[in-house]
Amino acid sequence: MLFGGHVGGGVKAAPERAQAIGADALQLFVQSPRAWRFPNHDPAVLASYPERAREAGIESTLVHAIYLCNFASPDDVIYDKSVATLRSTVDASCAIGADGVVFHVGSHLGAGFEAGLERAVPALEQVLERCSDTTWLLVENAAGTGATIGRSLEELATLVERLDRHPRLGVCLDSCHLWASGYDVTDPAAFDALLDEFDQLIGLDRLRALHVNDSQTPLGSNRDRHANVGEGLIGNKLSVFLGNPRLQELPAVVETEGQAGKGPDEHEIETLRKLWKAGVRPTRAPARKRGSSGARRGARGTRGSRSRGRRSG
Ligand SMILES: [Zn+2]
Repeated sequence: MLFGGHVGGGVKAAPERAQAIGADALQLFVQSPRAWRFPNHDPAVLASYPERAREAGIESTLVHAIYLCNFASPDDVIYDKSVATLRSTVDASCAIGADGVVFHVGSHLGAGFEAGLERAVPALEQVLERCSDTTWLLVENAAGTGATIGRSLEELATLVERLDRHPRLGVCLDSCHLWASGYDVTDPAAFDALLDEFDQLIGLDRLRALHVNDSQTPLGSNRDRHANVGEGLIGNKLSVFLGNPRLQELPAVVETEGQAGKGPDEHEIETLRKLWKAGVRPTRAPARKRGSSGARRGARGTRGSRSRGRRSG
């Protein structure tokens, strides 16, 4: 598992900010999250991103679309701005070689799930065409506030189906949103059942990223209030989410306020690693002393098609 945080600084400074808090993955915005205006990125700054990230020890980069976007909106002005923004976001994300662009479908504002889908599907179809084989579009599960779309695996699966199971469409699961929408991520059996259902309805190969946030509000509250890692109602049981063997190849990104209210800090990443350690099943001790540990490690390293020499710690 790769551990990261949503950091400020944009394309220019995100890698060094993430390195400073001890992360090996990061998430960033490619524009100010408070305004629709999309900046004219310097192509040289975009092009130099992969090398700067590598030098900072960042092994996975996610971009988050701004929260103003609503692809299910019945309002044409908001809808058109949302689509234009996501197109630009995907283009910049491809240019920096990001692994995914995380977005929320948005809210149908009372028009109904089906009406919302009829707006979202053509919007996402045209954006998916701009993705690359390595930069995917990742729909994030919703906490279920108001009329938001994506509050259940069924809703996510319906969206994936309606987009003809597009080869560059993935999912990002947020622990806080799962909890708020009624999925108990603190119960190992329940969480395993959730992943079984995910695999059956969507396919686990589409699960490309995790958001690891604690929750200020109770299970099933449908309220999206992130708490610092281990300091909310999920608490130390975040270890169940982090430790699940089926999630170990994924980047896990924190989106919390941190100790100083300025975003994920060193303490968040440290706590994340501690909880992960508490949650992963202990590796079996070697039965015999014979054979080199190097060979064993080598054998492990070749396991799984997605292990790009990633560290699992
Ligand atoms: Zn999230």
